[in-house]
Amino acid sequence: MDKGKKALSKQSLRDYSREELIGLMSEMGEKPFRGRQLFEWIHGRQAGGFEEMTNLSLALRDRLEERFSVAGVTVEEKQVSAAGDTAKYLFSLPDGHVIESVWMKYRHGNSVCISSQAGCRMGCQFCASTLTGLERNLTAGEMLSQVYEIQKETGERVSNVIVMGMGEPLDNYDNLVKFIRILSDEKGLGMSQRSITVSTCGLTEQMRRLMKERLPITLAVSLHAPNDEIRRKIMPVAKKYPIEDIFQACREYFEATGRRITFEYSMIRGVNDRTEHARELAERCKGLNCHINLIPLNEVKERDCLRSRAPDIEDFKLVLEKYGRNVTIRREMGSDIDAACGQLRRKFLNRAGKKPEEVKL
Ligand code: SAH
Repeated sequence: MDKGKKALSKQSLRDYSREELIGLMSEMGEKPFRGRQLFEWIHGRQAGGFEEMTNLSLALRDRLEERFSVAGVTVEEKQVSAAGDTAKYLFSLPDGHVIESVWMKYRHGNSVCISSQAGCRMGCQFCASTLTGLERNLTAGEMLSQVYEIQKETGERVSNVIVMGMGEPLDNYDNLVKFIRILSDEKGLGMSQRSITVSTCGLTEQMRRLMKERLPITLAVSLHAPNDEIRRKIMPVAKKYPIEDIFQACREYFEATGRRITFEYSMIRGVNDRTEHARELAERCKGLNCHINLIPLNEVKERDCLRSRAPDIEDFKLVLEKYGRNVTIRREMGSDIDAACGQLRRKFLNRAGKKPEEVKL
């Protein structure tokens, strides 16, 4: 077997929690502290290979090298916005799938938006990520690697992570929770869980499971409609999860975690952007501690949804404010670099001749 193929078949230790590394070391006849050392190399210092791990014996490094890698993701393409405050990365995974991540520089720190799956099976009508369905879940290590690579590439610390790129994070639940725990481990990057946001299209069973983990992360819920009738037209997942159940789960989430919910609402011309929709939304949010983020739709070539007109977005916001709701319009960053979900990858796949297919839930 050549070296490349062998590396492909080896499991990456980036996917291992600290406990799993300690377990592995004892299985290999080593002391538990070796597991902690490995964790620090892999997640604290983001070592690129076992050869860097100089406080481990050469013999142990060789034995690890035989069976494992510390591989993550590889930069395939990078686009930087004209203003220099946003960069979009196209990464390849060891098995050849491609995913994307976005780096955003703000005055208060740097954010990275990561993907949780290669593709997506949720089928939202306006989204590019779902055009070819779900390829596979990302491992915890592949999610972490997007943050590690971007930090290495930019030479700047990442202070916030948002799981809002390609994929539905709650459809990859176990890997997501493992990712959050490793990312916030003080021997890893040590990111505050309060600086992590997870965005879901509203899978209520998993939202309820997540609140039991008692992680003080921010939960963002993609609402995009004030009622089930409109929601079902644009989000197939709404047929399974009624909006009232989503609101009930959000109320429970706030009760359990004390964390304010964010609602995302992408503004689609003639579909969900009338002032009566804003009134209905405002009524629904009554009594819930939430923030509404209006997102001017990023038009996707393969989809026929159009962006709402700017004055309609402003009017929508005014109505919500009149009802006393917290609302912002998402500042557009990097629209010159295909920053909308899945668009850079879509171009890459188009070049590779991979055609969109119908997605069924
Ligand atoms: N699956 C998760 C996270 C991924 S998408 C979720 O549904 O929340 C992140 C956000 O961008 C979601 O609110 C999604 O609905 C929205 N989105 C996807 N494509 C978009 C587009 N073309 N324009 C505007 N928002 C979009």
